[in-house]
Amino acid sequence: MQFIDLAAQQKRIRERIETGFRKILDHGQYILGPEIREIEEKLAAYAGVPHAVSVASGTDALLMPLMAENTGPGDAVFVPTFTFIASAGAVALTGATPVFVDIDPETFNIDPAKLEVTIQKTFAAKKLTPKGIMPVDLFGQPADYESIQAIAGKYKLFVLEDAAQSFGASRNGRKAGALAKVAGTSFFPAKPLGGYGDGGMIFTDDKAVHEELLSIRVHGQGADKYTNVRVGINGRMDSLQAAVLLAKMEIFPEEIGLRQEVAGRYDRLLAGSVTIPKILPGNISAWAQYSVLHPRRDAVIARLREAGIPTAIYYPIPLHMQQAFAQLGYKRGDFPVAERIAGEIFSLPMHPYLEAQAQERIAEVITGSR
Ligand SMILES: *Cc1c(COP(=O)(O)O)cnc(C)c1O
Repeated sequence: MQFIDLAAQQKRIRERIETGFRKILDHGQYILGPEIREIEEKLAAYAGVPHAVSVASGTDALLMPLMAENTGPGDAVFVPTFTFIASAGAVALTGATPVFVDIDPETFNIDPAKLEVTIQKTFAAKKLTPKGIMPVDLFGQPADYESIQAIAGKYKLFVLEDAAQSFGASRNGRKAGALAKVAGTSFFPAKPLGGYGDGGMIFTDDKAVHEELLSIRVHGQGADKYTNVRVGINGRMDSLQAAVLLAKMEIFPEEIGLRQEVAGRYDRLLAGSVTIPKILPGNISAWAQYSVLHPRRDAVIARLREAGIPTAIYYPIPLHMQQAFAQLGYKRGDFPVAERIAGEIFSLPMHPYLEAQAQERIAEVITGSR
């Protein structure tokens, strides 16, 4: 059994991918070829935002909007402590300080009440200038943007949505990528919309931000390539990746539907044996991961491993306890919810092609009936 079955998916779209590759080999525009414009337009329309900028990775999709906001040394950006390192890493790369916030125990997303307290404390300490909030749509479920936007408005902070895991999700009818002024997603192969390599996309409804991002993506270019108006990066996505994504987009909406079925089946099979994921009313998750809690996680994982069933732990160490952020001075006990969840959580195989039979077997091992 596989944790994510990319081969089953490839069978459905292999021909389209090969046709796409062949076109690129013929026209030779490997950088910023016509496929780039095409995937940007397609995904902007899907997300329901006017502008999309394809980039080299999900990390760049977070770093570049921070650069566009002139985030830098002395600034504070509020980030949940329970996420992938890249969320806070992008903040630190600008020279700004990631200020961690504990999570909601049921959704694992940033806790808005704790966010506001942390913002107030940061203002009061007068060491850093609160500048922005980066909510993360963890495991594919959008964060509580109504509460977050209200707080952002009150304290005049920007909101940058880390939609790396949530492309395809929605909240109250609005798609992930459209839940903040700027959002970044990732096409790492294991994400809901994954390429065959690294890639990412930035979404925004702000024309000025869009133009800045286009400049930052090519070394801060101005009117032409060798007129540089700011310091940027090489943040471009390859035409070849765009061709893969264009093929995958043909079946992506259907796959998001299949993921709902797989998650629903897990819910029914596992309720009562583990703490199943809680999806808030109004939210549709992209189900990047199906993550459950169990107080004796390691024993359950060991049983699954013996049965040939792969699992993963996202995330064993909250970011405030990572060595990379040791200089920030956090300690164990600072974020009790994230620390408890990190000790109990694990993720089960999840992809659109997971069969009912396989899920039943997984459930049998977990419930211990076999
Ligand atoms: C994957 C991921 C990223 C980074 O994306 P890459 O494409 O790997 O650079 C950022 N944030 C979160 C929450 C992620 O899961």
